[in-house]
Amino acid sequence: MTATIIYGNQLAEALRQEMKEEVANLKKRGIHPRLVVILIGDNPASKSYISGKQKAADFVGIQSELISLPAETSENDLLDLIKQLNQESDVNGILVQLPLPEHIDEQLIIEAIAPTKDVDGFHPINIGKMLTNQDTFLPCTPYGILTMLKLKRIELAGKHAVIIGRSHIVGKPVGQLLLNEHATVTYCHSKTSNMKEIVQLADIVIVAVGRANMIDHSYIKSGATVIDVGINRTEDGSLTGDVDFDSVKEKAAYLTPVPKGVGPMTITMLMKNTIKAAVNQATN
Ligand code: NDP
Repeated sequence: MTATIIYGNQLAEALRQEMKEEVANLKKRGIHPRLVVILIGDNPASKSYISGKQKAADFVGIQSELISLPAETSENDLLDLIKQLNQESDVNGILVQLPLPEHIDEQLIIEAIAPTKDVDGFHPINIGKMLTNQDTFLPCTPYGILTMLKLKRIELAGKHAVIIGRSHIVGKPVGQLLLNEHATVTYCHSKTSNMKEIVQLADIVIVAVGRANMIDHSYIKSGATVIDVGINRTEDGSLTGDVDFDSVKEKAAYLTPVPKGVGPMTITMLMKNTIKAAVNQATN
């Protein structure tokens, strides 16, 4: 079997085109979605993610503003800035680019953002709503993965999904979203003792670890769907995923590449959440 490759960049492009039209219509109604991104320090990977987000926002017609502050910015100054942005009625979405410098408590910052402007979907209130299957801002990477699976009409109900990785931003929430779609979900992590045997049972495998090529064909059941979230930089500077693409391609039914897979979907869902925030704030 040779897998159908799910190109997230193509799906993302089509979604952004739809959103562009939606935003143009919203503007006619006086709704101008606006996103503020805060970057502390000058982490090159963060800068590259932010530039992707800004390009997407420009395309869709969302006004995006970058507030770039030095690495020494104090936790209190950042909290004050967030409080101020929470109050500004023309700011619909606030995103603090992670990771933050060590002297700043990430959780404290996440919880300072008004849940109604939390377009990353990391605030505990929004996470709680996701757990209880209520309408909320879903975290962008898990939301992007779910959207991909749905657009490709991959059956989720009753299927066994194995998630490798249990971070707050990817692993845990993507498992929860699949559970909400009636999949049977198993999590693997660094303390899992018989990971290969578990992954071999999976109809859907989602790999979010950050270790280049850790999953090869020997982990994969023939005909499984494999979603590679990992982003790893190789010695020559190129990007590679957590899945050994060439070997898994021969066994899986569906497989996402890196790059051009999950990454563009993540950014697209940030746009979707920002539009949702703008509409909610205009109508509530
Ligand atoms: P974290 O480092 O927060 O989490 C990694 C997870 O992998 C942890 O749960 C850890 O387990 C688990 N893990 C580590 N080693 C092993 C192992 N040998 N076997 C099984 N599990 C293991 O990473 P993130 O979730 O933030 O990101 C994961 C990857 O996804 C990274 O490469 C990141 O760059 C990428 N990413 C991509 C995005 C995209 O849009 N494409 C967005 C966000 C992230 P434990 O909990 O036990 O420590």
